[in-house]
Amino acid sequence: MAEKILIIEDEEKIARVLQLELEFEGYDTGVAHSGTDGLIKYREQEWDLILLDLMLPGINGLDVLRRIRATESSTPVILLTAKSDVEDKVRGLDLGANDYVTKPFEIGELLARIRSSLRFSVGAVSAEEVHEHLYSFAGLSINIQTRDVIRDGHSIDLTPREYDLLIHLLKHPNQVLTREQLLDEVWGFEYYGDTNVVDVYIRYVRKKIDNGEQSLIHTVRGVGYVLKEDVHEA
Ligand code: CA
Repeated sequence: MAEKILIIEDEEKIARVLQLELEFEGYDTGVAHSGTDGLIKYREQEWDLILLDLMLPGINGLDVLRRIRATESSTPVILLTAKSDVEDKVRGLDLGANDYVTKPFEIGELLARIRSSLRFSVGAVSAEEVHEHLYSFAGLSINIQTRDVIRDGHSIDLTPREYDLLIHLLKHPNQVLTREQLLDEVWGFEYYGDTNVVDVYIRYVRKKIDNGEQSLIHTVRGVGYVLKEDVHEA
């Protein structure tokens, strides 16, 4: 039996293209052009997956998602987001969306995400699965599956080493890590003894993630570094 996909998207052209592509791939589809209509169609029958635009007239995408997740968590939801929706995208994942694609998207990529979400949903663990991949601290979020790093809605580009260092700090919030520990765990033994590299990379990461109001990575003099929230320190 064909799997059924509900498309909730107010831009009729995009909705129409999605519908044609999905039907060509053998899916059954339903289309709604507003949040309200989307919720009505959602309740009318069982769906295998929902494509949900975030910016909708009336009830917006996040509210649609909230209402769906208030009653069940098993139907996979893929968000259709604009580049500027970073903050909403993170909120959407927090609310239990399974994945997202950023417009303009390649149809091939979307189809791959759909297949993967449908596969995941068989065990109905998809929402938790996403949460396992998401680390958040004080407005900073990292999705370790997509390696997306976001601070206060802004996407941040990190080099692989900077990313490894930040994720290590993020996995041990409020815990003082010595330079030796960081060197050992992020760089490995071949850098043994050269802790200056840690200081240099801490500076790089700080520069990229700090928003000017609040530092997240603090120096503990003579010891190392700690990731913590401190509203009193500039
Ligand atoms: Ca829209």
